Amino acid sequence: MKVFISADMEGVSGIVDPSYINPDNGKNYERGRQLMTDDVNAVVEALLECGADEIVVADSHYQMTNILLERLHPKAQLLAGSPRDYSMMQGLDESFDAAFFIGYHTRQGVPGVLSHTMSGVIRNLYVNDMVVGEFGFNAIYAGLFGVPVCLVSGDDLIAEEARQLIPGIVTAVVKKAVSRTSALCLPLSESRELLKRQTRLAFEQRTQVTPLTTKTPLDVTIEFHHAGQAEMAAVVPYSRYHPERSAVSLTVDNPHDMYKGMRAMLNLAGMAEFF
Ligand SMILES: [Zn+2]
Repeated sequence: MKVFISADMEGVSGIVDPSYINPDNGKNYERGRQLMTDDVNAVVEALLECGADEIVVADSHYQMTNILLERLHPKAQLLAGSPRDYSMMQGLDESFDAAFFIGYHTRQGVPGVLSHTMSGVIRNLYVNDMVVGEFGFNAIYAGLFGVPVCLVSGDDLIAEEARQLIPGIVTAVVKKAVSRTSALCLPLSESRELLKRQTRLAFEQRTQVTPLTTKTPLDVTIEFHHAGQAEMAAVVPYSRYHPERSAVSLTVDNPHDMYKGMRAMLNLAGMAEFF
């Protein structure tokens, strides 16, 4: 039984604002890394109890070097560092039985602790006209390989966003969003127990969750905050620029190109200065 864990940071127990997640100047960053590693360990321990025999953990936040390998459960393999062609989902393929998303957050433009989509340039991301955040985009990527996303952990609002896309998904709500940079956090011991309990439940119910799929070819559209970003993204060959909404679309026929196409547009757009 193989399980893929994509671990982001914004939705981790106890993390409420950028001071926990920014490796460059976050005064709570070292605490954030420990909190992230502890959340992942709770899930790994419960998965091993359930009989999982191969667990790959993809560190999926920012430079993707946040999880403390020396403190990570020794039975988990850690995928760390960047860049990666498939970013938060690198390493996932059809050989996995389930994917678990830990420490996730809501999409750009809606409430939720540290809500955003991939980077600061995206206003809205769509796959085949469905607006998605990181959860939805990554769940579709997994779904196209036939892999169901069985658990999401984070605040109460990402739990709701996930349930809207995958009705049978098990959620572990480790904090209740108060604002984009504030949350009512569960005590850590309770949080870890919840993560273990919900992991066991998700594992038991994994065959009842349908992988999230969509029709192919896949239309990936990004609405940017300003035209300069869209103009840079439109450098990607075969893309289509929609100037009236600062958006760029790309049609691809497989999940690999969906991820790489999104990243190419995102990274090019990130080069455009506001002024
Ligand atoms: Zn992140």
